[in-house]
Amino acid sequence: MIFGDNDGRFPHCHTLLWIEGEEITLFDPQCGRDRLEKELNKMSKSWKNIKNIVNTHFHVDHTASNAFIKRKNPNVQILIHRDDAKGIESFEEYFRRYGLSGRIKTHYESIFKFLGYQQTIPDRLFVEGDLIPGGFKVIHTPGHTPGHCCFYKSDILIAGDVDLVGRPWVSNTTSNVNDFCKSINKLLNLDFNVFLPGHGTPIFNKTKIRSELKTYQKKLINTGKKILELIDGDLTLEEILHKRDINRATTTWSQNHFIKIFRKYDTLNFLYYLEQLGKIKRFERNGQNFWEKK
Ligand SMILES: [Zn+2]
Repeated sequence: MIFGDNDGRFPHCHTLLWIEGEEITLFDPQCGRDRLEKELNKMSKSWKNIKNIVNTHFHVDHTASNAFIKRKNPNVQILIHRDDAKGIESFEEYFRRYGLSGRIKTHYESIFKFLGYQQTIPDRLFVEGDLIPGGFKVIHTPGHTPGHCCFYKSDILIAGDVDLVGRPWVSNTTSNVNDFCKSINKLLNLDFNVFLPGHGTPIFNKTKIRSELKTYQKKLINTGKKILELIDGDLTLEEILHKRDINRATTTWSQNHFIKIFRKYDTLNFLYYLEQLGKIKRFERNGQNFWEKK
């Protein structure tokens, strides 16, 4: 595993370099280009040895070096789940999934430029259960994104953004809290001792991995409970967001446009989740959505 620049935090992630003979498969190659090149040099390998890039999902902090590597070696095959392919093929679709428009979208585009990120057409789309290079099995784990996947091979799990850092991130328009909970259940049914996340810290102990996955899942469930507690009477999304802000006892988040947008979709996704659980219901009045307890 190559630990990413910026301690593996945005706009980077950790990269898994899987080598079989002369052939290399990179899982989420956004650890930092110099760092990656150094690792290749250390092994007396070059860009030409890279045969495949496998993405856990479409986010820029995992995929921004896809096009760069493809330029270094046009024979590289890029693989991603069917449901996240559009996110790397089209920036418009990327921004749609983030709910970004106007000035914030322009700002995000400048981040893309800074990272040298380009749209890329994947060479192969995979689905649940497929075998991918390195002999890993695709475990479709939607929630963070619709096509998020983990990769499993006896004793090893490549976990992407089921990374056990903070609370599961469900702030895209296409994130889904219930799916994330179910995806964690899916991982709890697998047997592995080696847990390799896209950010944060790898774990090499089955008991510890299981207990941390359960804690991580619990954080989603608890956030749902907290939001449910905020709903008294019929409230709009804006009113619920305001209540969350007060409860957080800090206003710094609202000064940052990105965090504001993430918080909006995070809250909306928890409202949909609570609807799904039958705890609240949504109704429309004067063209506006309201939520109330059932
Ligand atoms: Zn992500």
